[in-house]
Amino acid sequence: MKILVVNCGSSSVKYTLFEMASEKRIAWGVIECIGLLESHYKRQNINTHEQKDCVKVADHKEAIEIIIKDLFDKKIGVVVDASEIAVVGHRVAHGGIKFLKSVLVTEKVKKDLKEYFAIAPLHNPANYAGILAIEKMLPGIPSVLVFDTAFHQTMPDYAYMYAIPYEYYEKDHIRKYGFHGTSHNYVSQRAAAMFRKSTDELKLITVHLGNGSSIAAIERGKVVDTSMGFTPLQGVVMGTRCGDIDPAIVPYILSTYPQQYKNSSEFLNTLMNKKSGLLGISGLSADMRIIVKAVESGNKRAKLAFEVLCYSVKKYISAYYGVLNGIDGLIFTAGIGENSPLVRGRICANLHALGIEVSLKKNNVKSRKERLISSSKSKVKVMVIPTDEELMIARESKICMYE
Ligand code: AMP
Repeated sequence: MKILVVNCGSSSVKYTLFEMASEKRIAWGVIECIGLLESHYKRQNINTHEQKDCVKVADHKEAIEIIIKDLFDKKIGVVVDASEIAVVGHRVAHGGIKFLKSVLVTEKVKKDLKEYFAIAPLHNPANYAGILAIEKMLPGIPSVLVFDTAFHQTMPDYAYMYAIPYEYYEKDHIRKYGFHGTSHNYVSQRAAAMFRKSTDELKLITVHLGNGSSIAAIERGKVVDTSMGFTPLQGVVMGTRCGDIDPAIVPYILSTYPQQYKNSSEFLNTLMNKKSGLLGISGLSADMRIIVKAVESGNKRAKLAFEVLCYSVKKYISAYYGVLNGIDGLIFTAGIGENSPLVRGRICANLHALGIEVSLKKNNVKSRKERLISSSKSKVKVMVIPTDEELMIARESKICMYE
């Protein structure tokens, strides 16, 4: 049985085709810069090396048409007949309060999903376009939606509620939702496997540090709090996102630069989502690899950006340690979490009081494998677990289809 996983971003489509018996990837790729003058298409399958092309792709529908045609191509394809694909799993950014778990697509589901266009304007319309394109290209093959927000829907009301007038919650559904749920779910399950326990027996803090970053406090398999909020802007400092700031800064900036009033929402969204974070402080880059190199060569603003990011993560870990009244495991994942010993080491430095001690030697080992990096003295097991959101979406889609 094959499952196709489709991830439509605001200007990209990523895909992975799994053979579910072995959970092996048999084809994968991405089309980026959709809608621009030139889009970039990278693809590979078990029979080919990576191929890179420049193509002209107007929208998500065209991107999916290209991907499906290649999967079925007589020479380089890996699918002969559409019936080999049991289900298509779609990553969906925002499930709001309606979607608490993965769902099989129906007309009602599509209608409900449209209600969340306004809440996630960059992502949900793209996800929706992907669903329609798949329905057209693979008629009769069921689609499942797997939501970034779903895993966090176990949060208690006092954790997801913002202290603004209640009618904004009732009328506009303004509350914390949380994101990266598929990744937090996956690594918490893998951590439990490393503990040789069930997630029901564990208290974990999962730290997803990539271009976007979020932290989750997980008690007995259920999220009790997470750092991202109503949107993926809240929480720790990220590549280009500011994370938590004093909300009064927003009206202050507008009153200081009144010429921006006309398009204030676009101005502020760009400022806080695209020009802040590591990039904003360093003035250099949003990429942690470049920041680390600059730190090593003595760049002061890069060092400041690095410190601000690590400190913001350390504060969330400490807060969630208190929320959970102690933890069994602290898990690092995603691009930075999996690959930067410097960031992990800085975040975990001087957390002995919480029973968190990282082994210098283990932390410095370069590996793509799941591994323990805490010292033998550490009460908390600190782990690095590579995330696999695509595999998690494929598994969820299978469960949703057959159980
Ligand atoms: P992701 O969003 O999970 O793909 O993570 C992307 C981020 O991971 C990039 O912006 C890089 O800053 C970071 N990253 C990847 N490899 C390394 C590395 N070896 N050291 C530090 N940061 C890294």
